[in-house]
Amino acid sequence: RIAYVNGRYVPLRQAAVHVEDRGYQFADGVYEVCEVDGGRLIDERRHMDRLERSLKELRIAMPMSRVALGAVLRETVRRNRVGHGLVYLQVTRGVAPRNHLFPSPAVLPAIVVTARSSDAAAAERRAEAGVGVITVPENRWARVDIKTVSLLPNVLAKQAAKEAGAYEAWFVDADGRVTEGGSTNAWIVTADGALVTRPAEEGILRGITRTVLFDLAAEEGLKIEERAFTVEEAKAAREAFITAATAVVMPVVRIDEVPLGNGAPGSIATRLRSRFHDVAERSSLF
Ligand code: PLP
Repeated sequence: RIAYVNGRYVPLRQAAVHVEDRGYQFADGVYEVCEVDGGRLIDERRHMDRLERSLKELRIAMPMSRVALGAVLRETVRRNRVGHGLVYLQVTRGVAPRNHLFPSPAVLPAIVVTARSSDAAAAERRAEAGVGVITVPENRWARVDIKTVSLLPNVLAKQAAKEAGAYEAWFVDADGRVTEGGSTNAWIVTADGALVTRPAEEGILRGITRTVLFDLAAEEGLKIEERAFTVEEAKAAREAFITAATAVVMPVVRIDEVPLGNGAPGSIATRLRSRFHDVAERSSLF
């Protein structure tokens, strides 16, 4: 495998960043994960928009133009021969002697891009079975709208999920309402078939997959209620599912050991999953 590191394509085994990279020392950086499907980058424009926003919020400069960045993503995917998989992009504030303050004068941001194939058949099998989620107290900072590499609460939550035999952990706020998953947005389906998801302004990451689902729901004639929902409401819901570039639409069949409905993936989640790539924006890789 090949990685792009600060201007060079290098074998992944030899790909390295400086020990004084601020991403390493302070988690002072941001990232994006973009799906690759059928030789296309999925929703590249929206991922670039969000990257620019994350960088702006942290006052880190764009490391290169969007067009140049797009070319690096494509070239990394090509060099790794990824037909179906993910491309990962990380930008940190750069390398400087350890000091909490921003380097002054500013240094060049550090950029890393990797790409890997994923097993589409295994993902389909997982979606056909559905996944379990656990709930954990929300303990993240107030700026989860920024896609920063500072993910320790997410790491701990997802590890707890794994150890409980679940796929994802849903963070729950002080009012008992679900915010989002460790690496996914959370959704439920009401008895009358409306999709419910928490407002993007209320302590979650604005997922690109979540945004695309608004378009898809409109096409499918499904109503979306953008509001918070409690764990109790979720456990009694007709269906639940999670969304992310890494999972597309994944049916949830169990919340904290409580089976949802008849314990099988819901028909609406399954339908949305099958139609997702019809509405996602595909940019050619080559
Ligand atoms: N929420 C969190 C905390 C995430 O880390 C992610 C993706 O990594 C998402 C939601 C889903 O976002 P997207 O659909 O853009 O992949």
